Amino acid sequence: MNLILSSKVMRINTSLTRQLFELAKKFNDVIDLTLGDPDLLPPMKIREAASEAIMNGKTRYSQNAGLMEARESIAKFNSNYYGDEISPSEIMITCGGMEAIFLLLTSLVEDGDEVIIPGPYWVNYKQMTEICGGKAVIVPTKEDNDFLISIESLKRVITKKTRVLIINSPNNPTGRITPVSVLRQIANLARKHNFFIISDEVYRSLVYHNNKHNSIWTIPGIRSRCAVVDSMSKRFSMTGYRLGYAIAPKDLIVAMSRLQENIAACAPLPAQHAAIVGYGENVSISGILKEFLRRRDVIYDGISAIPGLSISKIDGTFYAFVNISGTGMNSYDFSMKLLETQQVAVVPGRTYGALYDDYIRIAFTVNVPKLKKSIKRIAEFVKEYCHVDS
Ligand code: PLP
Repeated sequence: MNLILSSKVMRINTSLTRQLFELAKKFNDVIDLTLGDPDLLPPMKIREAASEAIMNGKTRYSQNAGLMEARESIAKFNSNYYGDEISPSEIMITCGGMEAIFLLLTSLVEDGDEVIIPGPYWVNYKQMTEICGGKAVIVPTKEDNDFLISIESLKRVITKKTRVLIINSPNNPTGRITPVSVLRQIANLARKHNFFIISDEVYRSLVYHNNKHNSIWTIPGIRSRCAVVDSMSKRFSMTGYRLGYAIAPKDLIVAMSRLQENIAACAPLPAQHAAIVGYGENVSISGILKEFLRRRDVIYDGISAIPGLSISKIDGTFYAFVNISGTGMNSYDFSMKLLETQQVAVVPGRTYGALYDDYIRIAFTVNVPKLKKSIKRIAEFVKEYCHVDS
């Protein structure tokens, strides 16, 4: 048969992140710093809860929006976090934060609607928007403005077709947190121009030193036009459990549940039982946070000491967005040659938008000895292959 694939699927490209990740597997001594997939184990209580669910057969389908007990635990946890009452009917449990974003976009975006995405951006936002028939409108941010969203640039791209704006703070790949002053201005624009905000907060638990995560969702009057996306993946280091959720207005949760009935039926049950314990008992993540803080300092100090490379800040997440403009190489050549010659896999900055070809992203999701080894290899690579002005 002559297989004819849909235009929807033909619009999707495999990301450079995945390409480098796959390529890295071909090397035998590789240090893989590509995916945002931490090497740490989830807390014991969470593993026990998931295992117990499997052993005791608590593994049948749940309601499309998730087990009521899990929705209650998540609602209570977030009511405490945001200091505002959230009802379980405002919670939709999904297969990772990724599915929450997909269900939100599918529920909100009509063909031809515009979705504003600040750059550098997580490539899935753009791809998902396009799968939904929407148009991704990228608003770049710049390092010399601390990768802050410029309100003037936002105003310039808002049209009658603007339907959604996606905020990701703490940000993948920059590691930056959007300040409240900027969030307030974005909220004002959303009200004035009647668009919806998806606030992707999957990295909100990974915030370092005196930085504080701010959520647009807490700005008075915004809840009716805003959804928060969060996940157990990064908070509890449990990416493969596939457990995320959205907090959204009730009618939107009902719409997303209708979609879910036709997509995955529900999130995996062992993971939902892990969520009941993880959020219900507010299981501590201090060990995870301490380890990432240590790694952050190692990567920051190590990379900053390499001539030709710089990082300006890492407020949160487990990513370093490294400026390589001093090396005279573009991000793709740098990443490929680094992998071939030193067996260190990183993500080329152009993955996050055409303007970011002077950057690479390093995920510090490996242990400190490996991280130190990778820094040494990167330093050797830069010395040997790059033209750095001293
Ligand atoms: N949002 C951002 C910015 C991410 O980087 C990721 C994963 O890397 C996700 C959402 C989704 O993660 P998950 O589906 O594992 O919750």
